[in-house]
Amino acid sequence: MEASAANFLTPDTRHVLTAPKLLTDSRSRAAYAEGAGIYRIVPKAVAIPQNVAELTALIRWAAETRTPLIPRGAGSGMPGGNVGAGVIVDLSRGFTELTVDPHGRIARAGASVTWAQVTDAAKSYGLRLPPDPSSGAFATSGGMAATNAAGPRSVRYGSVRRWIDAVEVVGADGEARTVRRGDGRRERYELTADGRRLIAEHFPKTRKSSSGYALNQLAESGDEIDLLIGSEGTLAFVTAVHWRLDPIPPDIAGVALGFADLSALAEAVPFLLSLNPSALELLDASLLRLIPNAPLHAVLLLVEFERETSAAARGVVGDAVRGLKHHVAHVETAVDRAGLDKLWEVRRLASPALARLPASQRSLQVIEDGCVPLERLGDYVAGLRSAADRHAVPVAIFGHAGDGHMHVNALPDTTRPNWRRAVEALFAEVTDLLVRLGGVPAGEHGAGRLRAGVLERFYGPAMMAMFHSVKYAYDPLSILNPGVIIPAADWAPLAALKVGEDAAAIPDDIAARLRDMERNAGWATPKLELAR
Ligand SMILES: Cc1cc2nc3c(=O)[nH]c(=O)nc-3n(C[C@H](O)[C@H](O)[C@H](O)COP(=O)(O)OP(=O)(O)OC[C@H]3O[C@@H](n4cnc5c(N)ncnc54)[C@H](O)[C@@H]3O)c2cc1C
Repeated sequence: MEASAANFLTPDTRHVLTAPKLLTDSRSRAAYAEGAGIYRIVPKAVAIPQNVAELTALIRWAAETRTPLIPRGAGSGMPGGNVGAGVIVDLSRGFTELTVDPHGRIARAGASVTWAQVTDAAKSYGLRLPPDPSSGAFATSGGMAATNAAGPRSVRYGSVRRWIDAVEVVGADGEARTVRRGDGRRERYELTADGRRLIAEHFPKTRKSSSGYALNQLAESGDEIDLLIGSEGTLAFVTAVHWRLDPIPPDIAGVALGFADLSALAEAVPFLLSLNPSALELLDASLLRLIPNAPLHAVLLLVEFERETSAAARGVVGDAVRGLKHHVAHVETAVDRAGLDKLWEVRRLASPALARLPASQRSLQVIEDGCVPLERLGDYVAGLRSAADRHAVPVAIFGHAGDGHMHVNALPDTTRPNWRRAVEALFAEVTDLLVRLGGVPAGEHGAGRLRAGVLERFYGPAMMAMFHSVKYAYDPLSILNPGVIIPAADWAPLAALKVGEDAAAIPDDIAARLRDMERNAGWATPKLELAR
């Protein structure tokens, strides 16, 4: 069934004429009740605007009716920023334009255009978008900008922030505008001298972060765009992104290094970083043991080097192996792309291995994105392992060693009594650990709903008050993704789960399709297909 904004929440408004239809039938709403991550929240309605005019009309109607809007791309984000009780606004079906300017090295991509589509279009000009989220096949430009996404290559090229030249947005007031890097516009929010001091004192010093508003980046650049990037749909809708592109490096080589002990990381990671790798990934024993035929070490580091010539690429692999020869238990090198793909197969097999776990053992993303200062990486992995043991929740740890950033899948047996309490305790203990190590709770996925309530632990009350002022400056009625970044009054990180007997009721066939999508990373699927 379809309804229009006019008959959904009443008001007498002219915007309903151009606003998209609101889908209020139970099957469409169920199809949008889950994203990646742990939550199932059935929205009031779903809207699928096709262009800026429709989106603007929808926002104006929402402001008049005080209806919360949840911006959404593919739904692959993990901390619950893409689900909610208001109206889900799916930007993954319209907003498809994509043009490449090879001379200016810019790709202008509509909100729904995926990383893979940008990459394919740029490739014919010998260009690429360097940060490479593993979810690139389905992550949308809007979603990547909104979460400040990153990937293995971020160790060298940073997160997407550095690669965004401009964003086209529609704000909570319905105004459409383009915000460019370097334009120095800050009319909505300006930092005071006191604010700058607080930022310098309170922002954790990690290499990556997608945890709250990036006031530190704003302080550094003076650019409004830095507030909008990573704002998780709480300050504006992104309708297009102008991506900066970079030439594809000609040569590549790499090495896999196995270590018998975690303590080797303290020397190996800074040494490898000094060689300027384009990826420096870690697979922990907790994950390796789930992957058939994977080498079994305490940790395995996968390193990639991009260089201008094959001699330089091979040479740096030699430097890496020689420099660590007294520490490594296992070395395997690759001197070209094909060899490197083979070496990295073990990482690609991680997701299928997790998907094959027995039905009772669910992979839950609750502590999946913590990032610590590089020198605390070994302490963080050790702390994660012991917290998991203490609460009897198995975990699989892997991630971006060169950025001090670890992904952790909690794998509780959900047939065990009290599994939820154990996961809650793990969440609390890992939060304490991250605070103690000077880390942030999210390196690239965002705070979402899950972590909104712990941000104050990391930043302190004064910085949190600044986050509230930012939100108020952009969205005084709080219609854009309320509960994300700024916590709801009844914030409860492990409420509204998609797992367990008290999960919200949705039709069984849609629940099964959502589960399949999660297992097979099928996030590119148009969600209304699930409702058919
Ligand atoms: C298997 C798998 C692997 C992953 N690997 C990575 C990885 O390597 N690196 C990484 O960074 N992430 C990764 N992710 C997480 C996810 O893919 C990224 O966060 C991605 O950027 C989200 O894009 P999306 O289009 O799915 O956005 P959604 O999940 O739909 O939304 C994510 C957030 O962005 C907001 N948002 C979405 N679109 C817009 C818009 N147009 N305007 C304003 N706000 C918007 C939403 O409100 C929400 O808060 C992975 C996820 C999965 C399932």
